[in-house]
Amino acid sequence: MIPEEKIAEVRERAGIVEVISDYMSLKKSGANFQGLCPFHGEKTPSFNVNPARGIFHCFGCGVGGNAVTFVMKMEGLSFPEAVKLLAKRVGVEIEDRPLSVTELRRKDEKEQQLGIVALAAGYYANILAHEPAGEDGRRYLAGRGIDSSLFTAYRLGYAAESWDGLASFLKQRGVALEQVEKLGLIKRKSSGSGYFDLFRNRLIFTIANVYGQPIGFGGRVLDNSLPKYINSPESPIYVKSEVLFGADLAKQAMRELRAAVIVEGYFDHLAIYRAGIKNVVATCGTALTRGHLQVIRRYADKVYLLFDGDSAGGKATVRAMELILAEQMPCFVIELPPNEDPDSFLAKHSAAQFTELLDRSRPALDYYLRQLVAEEDTGNVAGKKAVADRFRVMLQKVADPVERDLYSRELARVLAVDIRTLGRVGQAAETGTATAAALRGTAGVAESLVALLFRYPEIAGEFGKAGAAELLPAELRSVAVSIMAAAAAGEKPDCAGIIDAAAESGPLRPLAALLVDDSHLADIDDPGRALHDFCRSLEREALKTTDAKGLRNEMLRLDSDSPRYWEILEALNGLRNRKSQLS
Ligand SMILES: [Zn+2]
Repeated sequence: MIPEEKIAEVRERAGIVEVISDYMSLKKSGANFQGLCPFHGEKTPSFNVNPARGIFHCFGCGVGGNAVTFVMKMEGLSFPEAVKLLAKRVGVEIEDRPLSVTELRRKDEKEQQLGIVALAAGYYANILAHEPAGEDGRRYLAGRGIDSSLFTAYRLGYAAESWDGLASFLKQRGVALEQVEKLGLIKRKSSGSGYFDLFRNRLIFTIANVYGQPIGFGGRVLDNSLPKYINSPESPIYVKSEVLFGADLAKQAMRELRAAVIVEGYFDHLAIYRAGIKNVVATCGTALTRGHLQVIRRYADKVYLLFDGDSAGGKATVRAMELILAEQMPCFVIELPPNEDPDSFLAKHSAAQFTELLDRSRPALDYYLRQLVAEEDTGNVAGKKAVADRFRVMLQKVADPVERDLYSRELARVLAVDIRTLGRVGQAAETGTATAAALRGTAGVAESLVALLFRYPEIAGEFGKAGAAELLPAELRSVAVSIMAAAAAGEKPDCAGIIDAAAESGPLRPLAALLVDDSHLADIDDPGRALHDFCRSLEREALKTTDAKGLRNEMLRLDSDSPRYWEILEALNGLRNRKSQLS
């Protein structure tokens, strides 16, 4: 654990503009700096850095935080790792305090589990590389043109015929088999004692986290038996919705190219990676999730989908596309000839021919529109309407109004109908995603009140007296309280400390957006008066939602002797008075 004051020191010494400039170019704009957001694709800068407050915020995708959270996202690091990296850059010595017993146990358990999976990976790799039992695996791979030089890079392995090969190997090395069972690599025999292995007679792909540590396995049969693939189950170290196969191998290239290619299978990954396209990751048996996209977003800001050229692949493409568009990431679809997958395509074609496909890839919506036209008969009205209806649904996922407009024009063109008959799909499609406008819109009175207090800490006393904090939702209240505490101690509130990782997704996001640029508050001549105005409108809002009718109904059922009766009566009177005062 790093002491709190060290974290603050690192944040202070590492100027946010200098830190961020290491990764992207920033231009001065008024008191702030601006640049193209590294976390989503954009052409006009909506990424703002406020050097005085040590925070950043993107009005395009809503990402925000301080210097530490920025480095976490860019480098794919945990919080302590990012602090240590920054500390090294600015010359702050950090001495870890010893971990508590609980922390130690949790850390120990995780490390133990990583150790077990690493041992198992070594066990499978050794069989494939050296053991007679691995002969089938070697022959199979040779048949697919994969020679032993790739075994190590891919941590390929082989699980032999034996029922308890892994179990007895790990037992001999003193590993507690209950721990291995927790990881799902072995199962308890239903009769009697002892364990049997999950993987038998299978080629093994080692699944690693982004740091390259093995966390699980995928196993493929070599004949036609079913299931063709099995994966080791979820465990504390292997959370499937957050793990993409090959991310550890791909992260450098993803970072350089700011793009990621997503494929479905292990062999697809291998084929493409081997062809020299290194920014590739695979979903391997799980549907693409938002968690996966968050991993990708640390390194890349656009996505290429490359699924099988059959109808299942087409469906998977559309599902993935919906998710990616909703996350506001530019998405392209690489199309393979019918009934080819990336592996089979590359077995017949050169890497250059594959790159050509990549260059010809179409924007996801373009692809989708052509799919729809191919599926429906657009020669008649019903068919045209079906295409328009289905396309509209997808279009609503697109956050950019200009893009939506362009695509509704394209839709009209393809269907040969007047755009007015289509009712300008673009306009109807206001989504709930965090567009710049929506984000500013959600920063309501409560956020403005906190931003006001932040900018004018001299009103802290008045703020307390007016009971303003009680009018705020819980998260904002605790921010207000810490600002008041700082003001009372005669200190400047620590903005970068407040706008931490919490600003990233949580209820504090609109506040973070206000704090990075609060120039609209600069013209207030009487902040004390503004405080009271904000409080009154908050109270008015609260009154609107108070259920006076519900209270009245409850009162009717109560005995006039009961204390609750009098409580409600008083509350209703209070409500009436407040309403007349505020109106
Ligand atoms: Zn952004």
